Amino acid sequence: MNSSQMSVTGSRAEFITEDYPNIKYGRGGGCFVSHAKAALFLLLAAAAVIVTGLLVYYYAPCPRAGEFVSSLSLEDQDALSDGSQGVAEGAGRRLPTEVRPSSYNLCICTLFDSNFTFDGRVYIDVTVVDGTKNLRSVTLHTGKDLKIIQKDVVVFKKSSANQTDNYSCEPGPSNSNETKENVVPIQYQSFENSSDFYIIHFRGDGLEAGGNYTLSIPFEGKLKDNLYGFYRSSFKDSVSGEKRWVAVTQFEATYARDAFPCFDEPGLKATFSVSLARPPSGFSLSNMRIQSTQPTTAGPKGWIWDHYEPSPPMSTYLLAFLVAPDSTSMQQHRTDSKSSVASPGTIGGNNTSFSIWTRPGFNNSSEYALNLGMNVLRFYEKYFGVNYPMTKMEMVAVPDFGAGAMENWGLVTYRESVLLYDPSKDSSSHKVDVALTVTHELAHQWFGNLVTMKWWKDLWLNEGFATYVEYIGTNAIEPDWVMLDRFVTEELQTTMSYDSLRSTHAVSPGNSTTADSAAIAELFDSVSYGKGSCLVRMLNHTLGEETFRKGLTSYLRKWSYANAEQDDLWEALTEAARSDGKGNSPLPNGLSVKDVMDTWTLQEGFPVVSVIRNYSDGSARISQERFVMDPKAKKAVEGKEGADASAEDDAAPPPKEKWHIPVTYTSAAERSFQNTKPRFWLLSGEGDHELPRGSFPASAQWVVFNLQETGFYRVNYDERNWFLLSNALLGNDSEVGKGPAGTGGRLPDVTKAQIIDDALSLARAGQLNYTIALGVTTFLSKETELVPWTAALGSFRFLDEVLSHTSHYGMLEKYILKLLEPIFLALHEKADITSLNQKLLRSMVMKWACHLNHEDCLSRSIRLFKEWMKSPDPNVNNPVPVEDRRAVYCTAVRKGGSTEWSFLWKRFKESTNDSSAAEVMLPALACTREPWILSKLFSELLEKEDDKRVIRLQDVYIVLRGISRNPVASRIFFQYIKNTWDALHKRYGGSTIVLGEMVKAGLSGLSSAKDLQEAKDFRKRNARKFRFATQDLDQAEESLADRVLWLNKNLEEVSVWLSGQVALGESDTADL
Ligand SMILES: [Zn+2]
Repeated sequence: MNSSQMSVTGSRAEFITEDYPNIKYGRGGGCFVSHAKAALFLLLAAAAVIVTGLLVYYYAPCPRAGEFVSSLSLEDQDALSDGSQGVAEGAGRRLPTEVRPSSYNLCICTLFDSNFTFDGRVYIDVTVVDGTKNLRSVTLHTGKDLKIIQKDVVVFKKSSANQTDNYSCEPGPSNSNETKENVVPIQYQSFENSSDFYIIHFRGDGLEAGGNYTLSIPFEGKLKDNLYGFYRSSFKDSVSGEKRWVAVTQFEATYARDAFPCFDEPGLKATFSVSLARPPSGFSLSNMRIQSTQPTTAGPKGWIWDHYEPSPPMSTYLLAFLVAPDSTSMQQHRTDSKSSVASPGTIGGNNTSFSIWTRPGFNNSSEYALNLGMNVLRFYEKYFGVNYPMTKMEMVAVPDFGAGAMENWGLVTYRESVLLYDPSKDSSSHKVDVALTVTHELAHQWFGNLVTMKWWKDLWLNEGFATYVEYIGTNAIEPDWVMLDRFVTEELQTTMSYDSLRSTHAVSPGNSTTADSAAIAELFDSVSYGKGSCLVRMLNHTLGEETFRKGLTSYLRKWSYANAEQDDLWEALTEAARSDGKGNSPLPNGLSVKDVMDTWTLQEGFPVVSVIRNYSDGSARISQERFVMDPKAKKAVEGKEGADASAEDDAAPPPKEKWHIPVTYTSAAERSFQNTKPRFWLLSGEGDHELPRGSFPASAQWVVFNLQETGFYRVNYDERNWFLLSNALLGNDSEVGKGPAGTGGRLPDVTKAQIIDDALSLARAGQLNYTIALGVTTFLSKETELVPWTAALGSFRFLDEVLSHTSHYGMLEKYILKLLEPIFLALHEKADITSLNQKLLRSMVMKWACHLNHEDCLSRSIRLFKEWMKSPDPNVNNPVPVEDRRAVYCTAVRKGGSTEWSFLWKRFKESTNDSSAAEVMLPALACTREPWILSKLFSELLEKEDDKRVIRLQDVYIVLRGISRNPVASRIFFQYIKNTWDALHKRYGGSTIVLGEMVKAGLSGLSSAKDLQEAKDFRKRNARKFRFATQDLDQAEESLADRVLWLNKNLEEVSVWLSGQVALGESDTADL
């Protein structure tokens, strides 16, 4: 999935949840249950409702777009909760291993009646593993809301695994191999809710070892609007104004079981033959092509079965289907979409067709993703050395979608805003989001779909790879965007800031076997996505492009249609390195890729490498230790009641973690930034590394380590080298200006970004003097490129947050504005920029200049917003330039009152057919500083009535993100959460992840010891409601403690430095 952009405070996607206190079944007949049966079923279902109680769904997704979910009833939570944290015994068990499914024939009839019911039957061919005893029961998964029609469940023996069956979707016997003689008698059926288990118990001998059987299970369910499982999505037809419905799936991670009973683990791959019943006016889609259509006999009159071709072997979470009652609900776009005539774009050897589905219209806005998608799929075939194995690729923009996107094989689903791009009204950053999301999902077609992780603990293999490869794919299609440089600021530096906390976790959580849905959902975080991608990139550069690709291709070929673990990938890459190396392997002596990578994936955190030069003889001493932002912060969180977070006495013991680190470097004389193969290794088991005399040139020349920041580590230097680097950035370097970046002239943009981010992070962690670190930033007044500016403003964000409630904030504002002024003046009135990166830079500079109250920026924004307010039809006529909308909206709302806010709120409410416009307006609504308006916005999160709800469930996280960036709003929000906690808990069905995200947004603006104590008290009072969000909350609390400690330690030094800098530019700073 793609979840990363959705995070409130980082790359974690969000999920939102719903409570379903009134699940009711009942309908006038379907394809599988007769009227009489339906009446009986209604009674059973009513009983089930009472037993099941409230159901809870939450979804936690990928950094750009978000990804996945879980379900746990409140009763389950209560049952599990004894006040202790973690998963109770027995919760979330793995399936027994004696039975393996080989194929599914799945028939589903979606009724779109007033209760949104569906019914179906699944035939699962299974084999009992040889060498086991006869089985008296078989266990599979079923969702808590799915109703199994127990009396019609049949299990029968097949003569062999290869016996071909002709399963029927119509009621009655399967009309295949089922006879009286081969039916296995069932004694009873039972359920184990904590693991979503459905168990069929047999009479007599049960199932024989080595035997082949078919399970035939009828079921019935309800399409909910929780964005997971098989759910319903709606939109208003822009012409008729009528509400249209679409039923669609989202199965990752553990939601296939909500649609049909199945063996819902990624390692249990099988083929799927899907049949979907629909009204004659409707249509359906699935992973494969339609093989045949056929009228139903038992279904509603005139209904049709769409029978799909069997899929290749794949995991349940990758299955997908979509049904709409009206074929005009969605429109297909192909390469010549304007004529809507089929024109298959061929991919590889399969004559693969490629298309996009949207609501009606959107011809222009689907064109970009369509062309990009086709091109990148072709590119990946070459890059991976393996053809795309499916016969078609359809990408669907779904009106309600929890994650960013989902890589279902051959039928990728997206949130509308990350698939559709209209150049006339969407910004450049939106275009980049679309490109990165599409390239991410299509990379999964190989990494994830063709070869899948054995178990969720190796999720990072899927997501880390897709996140890295999305940059390679985008770079191949859009080379001008320099995405390989931007990876450093967009992924690596943001990930390092999370991973610098003591409360981070390892990329691969060792031998974790938990099958609890909520715990699995927690794995979809910035560590799996972001750090995973950084480690893959490090390996790519360490091994070299050719070796890396060779190992990758052999891994994909060897494990196609199967499941693998990280060790299998390491083995393929080790082999490639050894055969390519011919005695000159890039790996250190005797070590394998596994030896190296285990220190990075099984161990949490990452190192800082220290370089201390001896300037008299040109030698240097290189050492490593774990980099932690402030080791005392976690202690302050964990401290006893009333402990003073600022206590200096109990310093943390020095961490012992060590890594095998590939080290690269260059010097002012050498300027070889391109060679990213290691020059030496800093090994985990060894002490400091000594570079001999003469390794480095004359004392007046700088050295830089970790070229292009390809290693996942920071670098600290002695003060003199920092000074030399600072000088080089300022252009006081003898070689400056003599050639293009990195070749003998200026420092490369990535290196500038690296130096800024390392320096300010080291200072924040107390490992570098702030005077030196801030000194590094003074060159920015001459900087004109996106990548260094992104790193700089990203680093300033911390100072901006932490100083926002102090009397020194005005000086920070002046200092950053002084750096920004030249680039602001150069770009802000420039309407003719063509370079995408310059557009992005301009937009970022505008946002910051307005945020820091630059007079011209404020007046321009307010003027443009006023013009919009006066427009005759503001929903159509918007004079605010597309690239400036985020900055202008936020500024106008922040500086304005209820008139501006209400105007924007109205535009938001009326933007129902333009989700990307809505996503730009929504965060701006949280920019107001008026407490009463903020309260009004917050109260929208509690709106219970469906028809009155303005903020879609899928968009709650966007509001939270806006709140977390407004120091006034987040403080008020924390009080609001405390006051309305019970109501929020009820509204969001007890979803710990959504509630955890809310608390994170509330804590983000706090920075005093008293705040920390209040946060701890609040969490303690509600401990049991946060059980599965502990990791997020640990991080939010540690960050808060870090700010408290920082203020005690650094405020004075920073403010003295800032006042000195500001005074250099002005004569009168007395009133600051
Ligand atoms: Zn993904």
